[in-house]
Amino acid sequence: MKCACCNRIITDPVSVSTGFGPVCREKLGLVTVHTKINGKKSYKIARQTTIWDFLA
Ligand SMILES: [Zn+2]
Repeated sequence: MKCACCNRIITDPVSVSTGFGPVCREKLGLVTVHTKINGKKSYKIARQTTIWDFLA
């Protein structure tokens, strides 16, 4: 799994689940929200801006 932003390898479950490493999540202002789906722990990003806003 690689960060969608900088292509660095990410291994922690939060980063893998969201697709962004911790540094890039902070840099991009992404907020990670802890959710439960069918009783399984999951993480998703609550964002005001997306990566596409930066790339556009
Ligand atoms: Zn990154």
